[in-house]
Amino acid sequence: MAFDPSADTQARPPWFPALLRGLRGTCPACGTGRLFSGYAKLNPVCPHCETPLAPHRADDAPAYFTIFIVGHIVVPLMLVVERLYHPADWVQMSMWMPLTLVLALTILPRTKGALVGLQWALGVRRDD
Ligand SMILES: [Zn+2]
Repeated sequence: MAFDPSADTQARPPWFPALLRGLRGTCPACGTGRLFSGYAKLNPVCPHCETPLAPHRADDAPAYFTIFIVGHIVVPLMLVVERLYHPADWVQMSMWMPLTLVLALTILPRTKGALVGLQWALGVRRDD
């Protein structure tokens, strides 16, 4: 991943609004166009302002941050419930497995969008 802020001379907002726009699943440049064409498939260009989005690849970082966030939500809750109520194993599994799945599927596209927005704002791109 190369850092070349002069490669794209388009005016950019500060990094935090771009990150928030990506978090919402919208283009970091205009905040209107959709960032994804599917669940987490990045549009090659913004359908609204035609900003190139394909060079901003997040690779494995969204999965890493999703695991980090979901783990920090589910594991403490699981330990507290175990400590207070000692539910049966099947009850634990029927509570935490679906919660983990729903949280991961909800958070993954948001972390990907936030990372793509941050990359766009900072000029981090890969053109290979
Ligand atoms: Zn756009």
